Amino acid sequence: MSRYWSDIVHRLTPYVPGEQPALAHPVKLNTNENPYPPSPRVLDAIRGELGDTADALRRYPDPTARKLRETVAAYHGIRADQVFAGNGSDEVLALTFQALLKHDKPLLFPDITYSFYPTYAKLFEVDYRTIPLDENFAIRIDDYAAPNGGILFPNPNAPTGRPLPLADIERLVASQPESVVVVDEAYVDFGAQSAIALIDRYPNLLVVQTVSKSRSLAGMRVGFAFGDPALIDALNRVKDSFNSYPLDRLAQVAATAAYEDDAWFRDCRAKVIASRERLAAQLTSLGFEVVPSAANLLFARHPGYDAAMLVARLREKEIFVRHFNAPRIDQHLRISVGTDAECDILLDALRGIFSAYVG
Ligand SMILES: *Cc1c(COP(=O)(O)O)cnc(C)c1O
Repeated sequence: MSRYWSDIVHRLTPYVPGEQPALAHPVKLNTNENPYPPSPRVLDAIRGELGDTADALRRYPDPTARKLRETVAAYHGIRADQVFAGNGSDEVLALTFQALLKHDKPLLFPDITYSFYPTYAKLFEVDYRTIPLDENFAIRIDDYAAPNGGILFPNPNAPTGRPLPLADIERLVASQPESVVVVDEAYVDFGAQSAIALIDRYPNLLVVQTVSKSRSLAGMRVGFAFGDPALIDALNRVKDSFNSYPLDRLAQVAATAAYEDDAWFRDCRAKVIASRERLAAQLTSLGFEVVPSAANLLFARHPGYDAAMLVARLREKEIFVRHFNAPRIDQHLRISVGTDAECDILLDALRGIFSAYVG
């Protein structure tokens, strides 16, 4: 605390990102990174941009990331004016809070969801109300019929991985024509249905995606919003009042190359999905209750062992999983899907902890 802090800084509750341990070979299953590298074309594109002298770095990048937006628009069969690109989807969400979600009535989002949402709401002074998930951690669309200044949720939800059918999302978007509905699709590629298919029909729908998880580029910081040009325009107005060059040159060419190698993406995604199903089955056989997941993570609790204890014991073995000390979920572990070899190390460690445990 300092007397130099502004009022808002005193009142903030900053988001706490998953640990990035300074270890040579941690088994890192705590931040939902992809266990496989990006397409080799990404490296070629970065090398090409740098050339022999890195002369291109003298110049500012394209402030609108036009080539990247055109590539991603073509990939999804939409127009470039329906695409916004930002420095990670976290930044896209931050701009969305200011551009589209700050109104007189409260923003609605689930009680159990991405923990950055309440952080942004406090930073940008957006009034919000949380809507409880049902007892199976599912979003109940009908609970969002309350008066609101916007609706926001991930699909699949975080940190549960549980997906919502596209028909439910369409019903919500159609029933709330006065509100912007934001669907955060950070994990959609791992098994849920994207709402991008609906943006032509619903001017109040904004879909947010990222290259961090399914395209193995968390280190590059690139995210997108897809929606009606009027919504995209709102994001551009806030962007150009904050940082006109959010995406550096290397990020723009890297993300473009990632979308140009669809075979790599599909292969990588298939491996992660197969490992998820295998890990879910093995956790279940160890006695865990596992939430059905369409993401690259599993949300699981063991009725016999305290979650904080498990996290601490795993950490001693340099195995990192995520634990949220929050109501309703403090006995759950969020486990990112790694390679089968990493999952096996986790499973062996759990067996060891269980057999040595005296309660
Ligand atoms: C990981 C994640 C993000 C942030 O992704 P970045 O593009 O890396 O900023 C946003 N929303 C959800 C639900 C996430 O899990």
